[in-house]
This record gives sequence, C-alpha cells and structure tokens, in this order.
Amino acid sequence: MQQITHWINGEHLTAARSLPVSNPSTGETIRDVADGDADTVAQAIVAAEAAFPAWRDTPPAKRAQVMYRFKQLLEDNSERLVQLISEEHGKTLEDAMGELKRGIENVEYACGVPELLKGEYSHNTGPGIDAWSNFQPLGVVAGITPFNFPAMVPLWMYPMAIACGNTFILKPSEKDPSSVLAVAELLAEAGLPNGVINVVQGGRATVEALLDAPAIKAVSFVGSTPIAESIYARGSAAGKRVQALGGAKNHAIVLPDADIDNAANTLMGAAFGSAGERCMAISVAVCVGDDAADRLIEAMQPKIAALKIGPGTEKGMDMGALVTAEHRDKVLGYIEDGVAAGAKLVADGRDISVPGHENGFFVGGCLFDQVTPDMRIYQEEIFGPVLCVVRADSLDDAIALINAHEYGNGTCLFTRDGEAARRFADQIEVGMVGINVPLPVPVAYHSFGGWKRSLFGDLHAYGPDAVRFYTRRKAISQRWPSSFETSHAEFSFPS
Ligand code: NAD
Repeated sequence: MQQITHWINGEHLTAARSLPVSNPSTGETIRDVADGDADTVAQAIVAAEAAFPAWRDTPPAKRAQVMYRFKQLLEDNSERLVQLISEEHGKTLEDAMGELKRGIENVEYACGVPELLKGEYSHNTGPGIDAWSNFQPLGVVAGITPFNFPAMVPLWMYPMAIACGNTFILKPSEKDPSSVLAVAELLAEAGLPNGVINVVQGGRATVEALLDAPAIKAVSFVGSTPIAESIYARGSAAGKRVQALGGAKNHAIVLPDADIDNAANTLMGAAFGSAGERCMAISVAVCVGDDAADRLIEAMQPKIAALKIGPGTEKGMDMGALVTAEHRDKVLGYIEDGVAAGAKLVADGRDISVPGHENGFFVGGCLFDQVTPDMRIYQEEIFGPVLCVVRADSLDDAIALINAHEYGNGTCLFTRDGEAARRFADQIEVGMVGINVPLPVPVAYHSFGGWKRSLFGDLHAYGPDAVRFYTRRKAISQRWPSSFETSHAEFSFPS
C-alpha cells in the first residue's frame, strides 16, 4: 500500500511504522501514512536549523517571489489537490475547492511581505540619535493542524511564517495527510530551498517531540479544545510562543423580524456544509420567540430532507461522509443523548443509506427543537450535521446565553434591525461576528480567532497577527558622534 511519507530537507522519508488513511465514503483503507516519532522530529529540526541562516538573510522581496510562484502552482494543481482532499476527508469537491481558494488568499497576503515587514523609524529621538524598530524571524517554528481543513489551515500558517524568514515544520492531521505532502512538493517546485519547509507525519508522539524540542521557537496549533489547551500549557512551559485555536459551538440568533427564508437557506449551508465538520459551522439557532422558531423549523425541514448526500468526489453532492467510523459513532452518540435528554428530533438523519456506499461513514442532516442549555448536545461540540434550536424570549436573553457558553469562536445575527445588530456586535463575547453573514470567516488580510476556550494565546491566526506571531520586534537606537564632540560620563537616566 502507498505510504504518505515525511518530507524532510526536500526529500521523501518513509517510516517503519504507519497509520491507516481511509476513504470515508467507502470505509476502505486507501493509503498508509508514516508515523513519526522523536527521531523524525530531530531530523526535521536539523534540516530546518541548517536552512535558517541563509533563508533569514534572503531579502523579503526574493522570498515573496517564491510565494508568487507557489500561488500559481497551487492554482495550476487545484483539481488534483481537491481530489485528494475530498477522497480522504469526505467533503464535496466544491467545498474542497472553496477551502483551497481561501488558503490561497493567505499566500497572496504573504506575497506582500516586504511591505508587511517594514519597521518604524523616528528621526532625532535625542541629540543626533535616530531610532527604529524592525521585525526579525524567530528561527524554526512549527504548525500542528486538524483534519477538517487539510489544505487551508496549514496555509494559514506556513506561507507567512516562511515569508517572514522562518523555517517551518508542519505536522498535519494523520487522517487526511496527502494534500499537505503534495503541496510541500509544489513549494520545492516554486524554488523554496530545501529544509525551509518540512513535514513530519504522525500523531501524539510527533506532536510531543515538537513541543519539547528547545530548537523550536513557536508553535501554531489548530484542533479541538482539550488538545489545544494541553498544547498551550506544554509549549509555553517549554518557553515557546504558542497560539492554540480550539473548538467551537457557534450560535446564530434569529430575530422575529428576520427574513426567515434567507435565514433558513444560509443556515442550511452553515450547519450542514462539510457535514458540520467546520469550526465555524453554526450548530445552534437561537430563535427569539416561538413564532420565529416555528417558521424557521418549517422552512428547514424540507430542505434537510432534500439534502443530496453521497461521496464527496461525485459531482452535485451537498454533503459527504464524516471523516472516520469513530467520529460517525461519536456524532450518533450525541444524537441518542439529545433524544434521551428530551430534545425533539424534528429531522432525523441517523438511518441514511447511500446506495453503493453502504460502508461509508454517512450521517444525514439532523435538526433538534426544544434544546435547553443543560443538555450535552447544547454544551459540547458535536462536529457533525446536527443543528439545535433553542428558544429565547428576547435578544438580551439570547446574547446572555451565548456569552455564558464556554466557546466563543463565531456567531451570527439574522435581523433587519440596525439597532439590534449594533447592540449584538458590541455586547457579544465571541471573536468573529456576522450580521446576516452566517460564516464570518475573516479574509486573509484580517486575522482569525475565537475568544474564551476557542483560543489559547494572544495573537490570532493569519493576517496581520501572523506577521507579529512569526517575528520578534527589535528596537534600535543609533548615534554617530561627530569627531569634534567631546564625550563625558552621564550617570542620570537618559531623557
Ligand atoms: P484534534 O484536536 O483531534 O487534532 C488536531 C491535531 O492534534 C492533529 O494533528 C492530531 O494529530 C493532533 N493530536 C490529536 N490528539 C493529540 C494528543 N493527544 N496530543 C497531541 N496531539 C494530538 O482535532 P481534529 O479532530 O483533527 O479537528 C477537529 C477539531 O478542530 C474541532 O474541535 C474543530 O472545532 C477544531 N478546529 C478549530 C479551528 C479554529 O480555527 N478554531 C479550525 C479548524 C478546526
């Protein structure tokens, strides 16, 4: 069986041990992925450290030229890449293309790195003294990424990290690693010197070796909250700069004045797109008033029944399979739990069967009504095609409900009322907010990040925050005394 290898110093490296990679639509194991360990990480560090001095000293404009070529290669190879993504993740080809395009936006932003790295300058801060600050790369930095955006989330990280002059070690998800390896090869084709980007495959052992290695100066992580929290603690304790983005429970509030048809249509995509396996998926609709709830449910039920569910690689599907059998069983467990807790399952996708794909990990769209905050299906991230309707009495109650939730990644308000929208945007304790925009994922020249237990660390992902995350500021004061000046000792603090 084909092994998805490590990529170290511009070369494929096989491993004695491997992990299975399945096609979620058929349930079959289609490839193996190398399972790394501390030795693999050590090899990647040697390559990344060796490449760093020359890459750091490469002018930013030359580093940007690699990014321009890389962007073109990503576009030229997009069909092949989305096929790999869809085959291993299960999402539809269109959705995979969407993630790739959003990923490419980050490469475009990184092309502007000479401008982004411009420092600050002050003339004559004291007699004959000029001062400036500039931004220098950290050294070897690492990224650890989740299964659900196998191309886009890594693209949030390494284009800016390497454009800023760092060298990078990426640990992709072991569930869908093929596209990352294909992209690393494209970077080599774009002219990136060997060792500037390295890919180490595997699971926990690989991650822990990265966190503990003193040579690695910073770690970007995206994944579930329990792992994000432990990565933040372990990486920070080892003296690294860490940003760790975690899970979510994204609420949409539907006010009585909202265009319910529009809300229902956009919620279909936001809740069931990618089978709900998105950190920005809407998983709770908080309807203000029973009338809004009843109308929303009535509008959504037929749409959920009409969802086209099947292999993501087949054209025309709305929704593909969940990533693994274990994850499908976890999602089914939540649905059972919701029913047992007394929530009303008004659309039930549990018994779906896809002809010819009976062993695929499919779950159909599910809609729960009468969900209350004490239920597990409300409190925890399900990460599947399950939308919960909670009924609230007022906008203030809905805002208070969201603010009390442990997660704070994304949220949205459906309304025609500008005053309500302004109050919501102002008071909501969530990092990314949409007004009639259900998936308010910032474009690449803004930054992405949640609040509360959706992000551990200070700086958000990509955009301007990424420039700050992957560099450190140096402040320089300079004076060139003229030859006729006589110097004397000064013992008071310079002012
Ligand atoms: P995950 O936490 O299981 O895995 C993420 C990464 O951590 C993978 O590379 C995995 O190999 C590694 N990992 C897993 N267990 C580990 C352990 N015990 N120790 C060290 N490393 C470990 O997440 P996932 O299932 O791949 O992805 C889905 C999760 O990611 C969801 O919770 C989703 O909300 C979250 N996510 C968040 C964002 C965001 O921007 N906030 C974006 C995408 C996904």
